[in-house]
Amino acid sequence: MKVDLAVVGASFAGLACARAAALGGLRVAVIEKKATAGEKLHTTGLVVKDAVDSVAWLREVPAALVRRIDGVRLYAPNLRHVDLAAPGYYFWATDAPALMDWMVESVRACGVDVRLERLFTEARRAGGEWRIPFASGEEIAARYLVGADGPRSRVAQVLGLSRNTEFLFGIEHEYAEAALAPDLLHCFIDAKLAPGYIAWAFAGVRAAQVGLARRSSGMRAGAVDLAPFLHKVRGHVTCEGRASSVRAGLIPCGGLLARVACPGALLVGDAAGMVSPVTAGGIHTALWHGERVGDAVAAHLCGAADDPAGWLARAYPRFRAKRVLRTLYDRFQNDWIFDRLLATAAMRRAAQLVFFHRKAGVDRRVA
Ligand SMILES: Cc1cc2nc3c(=O)[nH]c(=O)nc-3n(C[C@H](O)[C@H](O)[C@H](O)COP(=O)(O)OP(=O)(O)OC[C@H]3O[C@@H](n4cnc5c(N)ncnc54)[C@H](O)[C@@H]3O)c2cc1C
Repeated sequence: MKVDLAVVGASFAGLACARAAALGGLRVAVIEKKATAGEKLHTTGLVVKDAVDSVAWLREVPAALVRRIDGVRLYAPNLRHVDLAAPGYYFWATDAPALMDWMVESVRACGVDVRLERLFTEARRAGGEWRIPFASGEEIAARYLVGADGPRSRVAQVLGLSRNTEFLFGIEHEYAEAALAPDLLHCFIDAKLAPGYIAWAFAGVRAAQVGLARRSSGMRAGAVDLAPFLHKVRGHVTCEGRASSVRAGLIPCGGLLARVACPGALLVGDAAGMVSPVTAGGIHTALWHGERVGDAVAAHLCGAADDPAGWLARAYPRFRAKRVLRTLYDRFQNDWIFDRLLATAAMRRAAQLVFFHRKAGVDRRVA
């Protein structure tokens, strides 16, 4: 099978890239190892308003797949909390598995050939094309290759590009029955339960989502127990019964990788280390840069631009300031300090910047 562009990974970055390239006139195949894009997801699926504003595709998402959350309740380790909001700002909680399956149908409607249950293992460059063989004996020949295959990118490995080495480990449970203030994203600072990051809870589209992320050294889902966190926050967040589903995975937090491209190939999304080292959010950057890569590859293969491997990667976000903040938080996270500083104006201002970026914010209440 011959295509112009082969994209490895049917998630936010890969599907945004494939859609943009197909709309730019290319024949595009997406290679995905799972049986459906929505199964075994490792994301909470919170989408920031900036993504909704900047990625036009998101405005086509069916309303039933999202739920708006207007503010953040940030808890110090002693559970005192402050409510934060910014005028007009919101987050989308999403039904992430259904959203992912909707995205696949949406790109198929643009003419993209999404090939599920295909594990990418190898690629050889011959005669100006990539030859991608599969265990079944099938082969895809592609003029351009994009690796959007997540934090442990096999494409990066095969092409000799850089690979992520610094990670947070995130785990999340869904509960059908839970009591918590519904229109807020509840975020908890605790150096013992969530060292290097935070824990969170919110009422999602189908269920309450409760999770935490922490510094990782080769962790697996079973290695993190949410019970001590749920016990600590009962009264603020109370979950009934057993978790109905578990999502877990690695979050690259070392910033953009050094080598993310070679002639005829580019990495994008988590594969390129494109995750905010402060918020650990990667959906917005994956969608935004996925689209840019799709547009640029289409322009290149239609003869209107040079190989984006030589110029587009230089425009990728480097997160320099956020990497400094990440290092400071990682080294100096201290419950005693957060207990004392949470109610101060400086701390609330810093939290506003982290949660709402540069938007001017208003404090609603401290409790
Ligand atoms: C627990 C957790 C919670 C998170 N919550 C949020 C959040 O709320 N908001 C936010 O913005 N970010 C969040 N993130 C980060 C966010 O999920 C990622 O940044 C985002 O999913 C990156 O998208 P991607 O398309 O680059 O890669 P991924 O979503 O990792 O997708 C990679 C795809 O490639 C496929 N694949 C991998 N290897 C192969 C192979 N060899 N062959 C074929 N297919 C392959 C995978 O099956 C997968 O479908 C979270 C991360 C974790 C771990």
